[in-house]
Amino acid sequence: MKIRILDSVRIRLTVWYVSMLALVLIAFSVVIYTLLSRSLYERVDEGLRSVIGVATVSIMHDTEEGQTSEGASRSTVAELYNPQQTLALFDESGRLLAKNDPDDEFQPALPSLSSIPEEQALLYTESEKDGDDHHRVAVQQVSIPPANTPYIIFVSQPLEYVEEELESLRSILYYVGPVALAMAGLGGWFLARKSLAPVVEMSERARWMGAANLDQKLPVANPRDELGQLAVTFNELLGRLKAAFSQQRKFMADASHELRTPLSVIHTTAGVTLDRPQRDEAEYREAIKMIEEQSQRLIRIVEDMFLLARADSGHYPLHKSKFYLDELVEETGRAASMLASSKEVAIEVVNSSESPVYSDEDLLRRMILNLLANAIKYTPRQGSVRLSLTRRQQDYMIEVSDTGTGIPAEAQSQIFGRFYRVDKARSRAESADGSGAGLGLAIALWIAEAHGGSLRLTRSDSGGSTFVASIPIADSK
Ligand code: ADP
Repeated sequence: MKIRILDSVRIRLTVWYVSMLALVLIAFSVVIYTLLSRSLYERVDEGLRSVIGVATVSIMHDTEEGQTSEGASRSTVAELYNPQQTLALFDESGRLLAKNDPDDEFQPALPSLSSIPEEQALLYTESEKDGDDHHRVAVQQVSIPPANTPYIIFVSQPLEYVEEELESLRSILYYVGPVALAMAGLGGWFLARKSLAPVVEMSERARWMGAANLDQKLPVANPRDELGQLAVTFNELLGRLKAAFSQQRKFMADASHELRTPLSVIHTTAGVTLDRPQRDEAEYREAIKMIEEQSQRLIRIVEDMFLLARADSGHYPLHKSKFYLDELVEETGRAASMLASSKEVAIEVVNSSESPVYSDEDLLRRMILNLLANAIKYTPRQGSVRLSLTRRQQDYMIEVSDTGTGIPAEAQSQIFGRFYRVDKARSRAESADGSGAGLGLAIALWIAEAHGGSLRLTRSDSGGSTFVASIPIADSK
């Protein structure tokens, strides 16, 4: 199978992480660079402004001391000598009075006289003729008392240092950014690899799991983190699957066992009968009757198994219709009386008045008959069985109680299980209609639950047992 590079979560995580970090780094660099360059340029402007201020004061002093314009200008320029700056003083007509130029090369060129303001300095950036170097210039016209003599003060400073500083910041950001990204990418990749390692191990283990080794478990590194939770959930799922598989296996084993008994009876009966070349009619009849009974039993078991299998897979459709539950109770009570009369067991039916219901009539009949058949089967001669229907607020309560042998306490929780019988030999021996495979209560329970109701054993002791089924009324509208 071809794995594309972005199909790996590890690589996708790293790519995401590095891209996000790159965005953050770019934004961070732009902000830092903008703030720093603004503050450096502002600092230059501040310096130029303050030179104008100091020069003004100096001219003022020199004038007070009685110096001429040229004299005051020259001494001011000399006083404020700074190798980084060019300071030039002009008179109002633009005539150069004095100049301090460290290189003596720079020719200060004034902008048009009308554009030079008095209140504050005019600031601008000028390129040198060769174009690469820039100067920041501040020009201001000042009036010096007492005669209010106008001077034009020109200060200029090369921006070389600022540009160098910004250049070095640019190169730092240019090299540091990619290195930081590469390191973060590497770190991210290792982290992603480390945190996803349990997933890789889990998938390796899961690959070798099958029905045969479901009792294996996935490794749980830390049950509190997300991956640990995943492994725990998966292990729980495996547990449920294992339980379902073993239930299925048990069902198969029980089913084969149940089917084998009648089949071997049929096989033996046929074999024994055919052993002798000639038998009289009575013997043939007896053998065929036995075969018929056992086939009947087989049919019944297979039908029950089929019903439960369809119920399990959710493919058993309920054919619901409107009918009266009290009529069904009456009818099943009558059917049970015939079964019970041969055993001298009395059947009492306590019915409710009109009880309309919207349910699957055949299935409810089967549920009641299964309960009644059990009650009669496990009640000794002279005993009695009571079938009653009660309408409650939310549901109909169908109660089947008997004066039978009761169910041992340790078996009570298992009687609804498939193929479960308390006393196998007795259960089979006493089943006149071919039932007794231990599926009757499992089917009755499924029917009650498929209707949204329930079936419970509410009492069972030496005085007999009581089963109570509840079928919701809400469904019966
Ligand atoms: P079976 O086909 O064997 O009757 P069921 O699923 O109907 O299977 O019942 C399971 C087991 O529950 C029976 O084998 C029997 O031991 C016990 N049982 C069911 N109903 C009664 C009852 N009314 N009295 C005593 N035991 C009962």
